[in-house]
Amino acid sequence: MSRGVERAFKYRFYPNVEQASELARTFGCVRLVYNMALQARTEAWTLRQERVNKTEWHGRNLVVVDRWFPSSKLCSACGAHAERMPLHVRSWTCRCGRVHDRDVNAARNILAEGLSVIACGGGVRPQRESSRTGQSSAKQEPPGATQGIPVP
Ligand SMILES: [Zn+2]
Repeated sequence: MSRGVERAFKYRFYPNVEQASELARTFGCVRLVYNMALQARTEAWTLRQERVNKTEWHGRNLVVVDRWFPSSKLCSACGAHAERMPLHVRSWTCRCGRVHDRDVNAARNILAEGLSVIACGGGVRPQRESSRTGQSSAKQEPPGATQGIPVP
């Protein structure tokens, strides 16, 4: 005897007062989170538009650096790339001997990246030590949602 597998089920649901209240509260919470995310996105877009308008007003260029650009991890003096840079590290010493304040170093790297984008276009970066030594300088993306899910 063969049994088929049902893929979908239809049920009528008549919630009592307590269940109806719980459903309304849950869906209300989801809607609240959605609205908060939408508001944050709208504000970010508005802020960016204000920056664009302001730079146009002053006759300047606005260069948006890639959000994954490792501004804190790069030595602004020699271009060496530190493997790890936890947020609590506020100053660090490069292999070249240069002592960096994290924020000042990041600002220098972002300025250099922006100037290189203006001069050469996007995706152009100066030679880093890793590319001279043969190590891959490819940007590593954070693990995706599929990582760790077993493949059948
Ligand atoms: Zn260095």
